[in-house]
This record gives sequence, structure tokens and C-alpha cells, in this order.
Amino acid sequence: MTRKDHLAQWERGRRAMMSKLREYRIRDGRVLAAMEKVPRHLFLPAPYRHVSNPYGDHPCPIGHRQTISQPFIVAYMTQCLDLMAGDRVLGVGTGSGYQAAVLSEMNVELYSVEVVSKLAEHARRVLDAQGYQKVHIKVGDGYEGWPEHAPYDGILVTCAPRDVPQTLVDQLADGGRMVLPVGEHVQRLVILRRKGDKIIRKDDLMVRFVPMVRG
Ligand code: SAH
Repeated sequence: MTRKDHLAQWERGRRAMMSKLREYRIRDGRVLAAMEKVPRHLFLPAPYRHVSNPYGDHPCPIGHRQTISQPFIVAYMTQCLDLMAGDRVLGVGTGSGYQAAVLSEMNVELYSVEVVSKLAEHARRVLDAQGYQKVHIKVGDGYEGWPEHAPYDGILVTCAPRDVPQTLVDQLADGGRMVLPVGEHVQRLVILRRKGDKIIRKDDLMVRFVPMVRG
């Protein structure tokens, strides 16, 4: 296949992904616009790009025994945060950098923490090449968050701790939301919202993420 054929193939893939997201009733126009723009295939390290369809309705391997989440999960979690341009957001588990690019398209100030340095380097490279220089990435333990830039209007965790880490809750701004998978074998997406000193918790969809390791 020529380069042009590949580009046409990725374009078709992205269109199919977008109609799937609408079928799943993702309705936040800002999230849909961001996902329509980001070239998801470029976030898969080259050897993995043809192993599975980067735009398919499933997670995709990115090496180091990690995956990028299924497009629906990326869209759903992002939508849950109900972000506005200019919001300050903490991401935990940068992985390939795809979720970071989607958030960056929504014009938020993103601070993203990744424990595997090789993945952080890969993410940095792809994000820079695609013009997402504004994303801040740190190699470190996500359980610590990134206190220097707290509080955050949104916190999005893409690896699963056993329980909600209190350190992260402490870095949530008033009115801010956090979405994260919680549990070991059976996991649920948990959505938290801070209202002053109160934390409102909603247990939502069943999900399957890689564990959040101790850094
Ligand atoms: N959202 C990513 C995929 C995340 S995969 C994307 O868009 O590609 C889960 C990631 O969480 C992996 O990269 C893994 O290394 C990372 N991770 C696991 N435990 C962590 C921890 N304690 N702190 C930071 N990152 C962690």
C-alpha cells in the first residue's frame, strides 16, 4: 500500500470510530470534535499500528504490556469531566499520549504523570511531532499526583488503583471532578465531585484497566 492508501485507510477508520461514538451516545460536542481531530494511529508505536485497527471498537496494545483504552472509554471518561477551555487537568497514566492529545485539543492545561519512562518518552515524541507541546509530562508515581500545580478542575486516571487515592482527592479543586477505574479483578469507573469539603461519589460502568502500580 502507498502512503496515500494508508492515509485514506486511517481517515475511513476515524470516520467509523466517530459514528460508533455517536451510537454509544457520546454527546459532548467538544469531546467529539477533539476525537475527530486527533490521529489516533500515530500514538500506537509503529510495530503495533497494524496488529489491530487503531480506530477499532477495542483497546490497542502499545507495548510494555499496556494498552490505549477503547475509543468509547476515552470519550466517556473525558465527557464525565465536563471540562471548559482553560481548566487545569491532571492525567495519571500518560501511556501512548493519546488521551493527553484529546484533552489538549479541548484547550485545557494538562499535567500528565507516567511511571514507565520509555512510555513517557514515546508520548513526548508523538505529542511534540503533532504540535501538542503544551502538554506537561512527568515521569513519576501517579499516587503522588503533581502537587506543584494543584488544585485541578479535572483528574483523569487511566490505570486502576484498589481504592481511591486520597492524595489525588486532596488535589481536586472545589467543583472539580475526578474519574478513575477502581478495583482489582472487578473494576468500576468511579466519578467524584468536590463540593467544598464534601466529596460526592458515583459508581458507574464496569471497566477493565491495567493496575496502577506502586512507583
Ligand atoms: N491513557 C493512556 C493509556 C493508559 S495505559 C493512553 O491514552 O495511551 C495505563 C498507563 O498507566 C500505562 O502507561 C502505565 O505505565 C501507567 N501507570 C501504571 N501505574 C502508574 C502509576 N502509579 N503512576 C503513573 N502511571 C502509571
